[in-house]
Amino acid sequence: WLYWTYKAVGNYKKALEFYERHEEAQKEKYKEAKKKNIQELHAQFETKEKEAEIKRVKELEEMKTRFFSQITHELRTPVALIKGPLQEIRKESDPAKIDHFANIIERNSDRLLLLINQLLDLNKVESKMMEIQLSTGSLSDFIERLVNSFNVQAEYKKIELKLSQNSPKDLLQFDADKFEKIVFNLLSNAFKFTPPHGSISVVTEFYSLEEELTEFSLTVTDSGIGIANEEIDRIFDRFYQAGTDAHFTTQGTGIGLSLVKELIELMKGKLEVESELGVGSSFCVSFPLRKALKAESDLTPQIPVLFSHELPCSTEEGIAKKEKTPLLLLVEDNRDMQLYVSHLLKDRFQVLQAYNGAEGVEMAKEYIPDLIITDVMMPKKDGYQLCEELKNEVLTSHIPIVMLTAKNSNKSRIAGLTKGADIYLGKPFQAKELDLSLSNLLVLRSEMQKKFNEQLVNFESKEELELATGKFEELALESQFLKRVMDKIEENLDAENFTSNALAKKMFLSNSQLYRKIQALTNSSVTKFIREYRLCRAKSMLLNGGYTVQDAAFNVGYSLSYFSRSFKNQFGVSASTLLDSPKA
Ligand code: ADP
Repeated sequence: WLYWTYKAVGNYKKALEFYERHEEAQKEKYKEAKKKNIQELHAQFETKEKEAEIKRVKELEEMKTRFFSQITHELRTPVALIKGPLQEIRKESDPAKIDHFANIIERNSDRLLLLINQLLDLNKVESKMMEIQLSTGSLSDFIERLVNSFNVQAEYKKIELKLSQNSPKDLLQFDADKFEKIVFNLLSNAFKFTPPHGSISVVTEFYSLEEELTEFSLTVTDSGIGIANEEIDRIFDRFYQAGTDAHFTTQGTGIGLSLVKELIELMKGKLEVESELGVGSSFCVSFPLRKALKAESDLTPQIPVLFSHELPCSTEEGIAKKEKTPLLLLVEDNRDMQLYVSHLLKDRFQVLQAYNGAEGVEMAKEYIPDLIITDVMMPKKDGYQLCEELKNEVLTSHIPIVMLTAKNSNKSRIAGLTKGADIYLGKPFQAKELDLSLSNLLVLRSEMQKKFNEQLVNFESKEELELATGKFEELALESQFLKRVMDKIEENLDAENFTSNALAKKMFLSNSQLYRKIQALTNSSVTKFIREYRLCRAKSMLLNGGYTVQDAAFNVGYSLSYFSRSFKNQFGVSASTLLDSPKA
């Protein structure tokens, strides 16, 4: 305000001086504020950057971890399928069986080699060590051979495989090895992600560009599960696998497409993808290629198509065998592993097979097997989910579960055991180790049966029985189940025609489900269980007084003569002696 004062009194010189001083101060202030603003913006920008960076690093770490666990699975499984069958060959003298195991070994060593070669190739392109090696030949013949090598798989998976090519006879210069890798990967993926009864087509087109240059394109289209829009760009990233919930398949490493992309770039080609979830995918690659005048040699594809079309024996055959051998359900998505493990077990068990976790759960509920062996990484439902679901379901809660898996870390082991797995075996495993584990589980089961039987069959009053069934904390679901069964019998105690079928109906179970569950818990048939329950109830009536033998027989649905005979058979004393000597 000094400026105003001087101005008012007419001292303009002083006023100007103060005005300028004021301006200067304002400017300084403004500069300060601007500097501060910039600093703040910088700081904000840096935190954002840092956060983004942290997120990127975290994502990369997660991808790496997933890759390692996946690659371990992908490496351990074939190794297990080389080591195991090799040991069987050593013991075997039947040439047909030796041949069968040799096939498994061959397929799995090829798989191992393919995987290692892919890893090496990826490393090679990344470090710019991969070179193009041109040979001359008919590219369309080469592609025809390559596509044809998938015929057996197409037939087996009931997938229609079509190939159409225009102008097929041109001789071209191309890198056969890299072409093969590209087409092989695209076709393998198409087969992997297309369900049975779908279709896959390969279309090639050649356009003459100039005198000696041809534009070549190849499109692989499948009617498979498709890829979500937001994932299409990422599937070419190394180790990336779309749809991580693994609902369709768990085999793979996320290397294939990243290698395809690198190889195409190396060959100055282009790659386009179109895909729609649930409809299918289409991968199109195109390259400029030089024409050639004469072929050097016949080019034949080198990569073997790895896939097991040998089928283990079917479920029906498995079940029809012998009644007395225990029933075992094997849940495993790798066919060679199925073949090998079921071979190990076939003399001691009737083996049922399921090819993924969801199928495993369904079959376990339907057949109520005596034992379950399950893999961990499987499509649709993994081994942990299977375990959790079956252990919490009354019908299947008693079934011992062995997890057989290539996920060997302590963390997965503990995860498996927490979900209720009884035993966790890592691949590769020793045949002997599996055998012993299964024997131990069967011993434990007969101990459980003994425990239940002691409590159930010789009770002397209804109250005593109710106490007893509540006694086994670790077998809570099983006790509850038996209690419900006994309640149903109790409600129909005097009904002579209350058979095992009627009981099953009351329990909302099929006859065979009820049979298998009662058999598993008590080692007796449903009919025997009902009979013993009735006789025990009659015994408690007689012991506790107030009933004649005839009353008791009538109350538990027996005719008098049949009752006396059955009673004597069951307890070794006649019913009337209990009346003469009341409970001590
Ligand atoms: P991998 O097949 O070993 O998992 P790839 O790099 O070959 O690895 O493929 C990466 C992912 O891209 C796959 O996990 C899958 O989710 C998706 N994908 C590739 N090809 C197809 C296809 N034809 N249909 C649906 N999804 C596909």
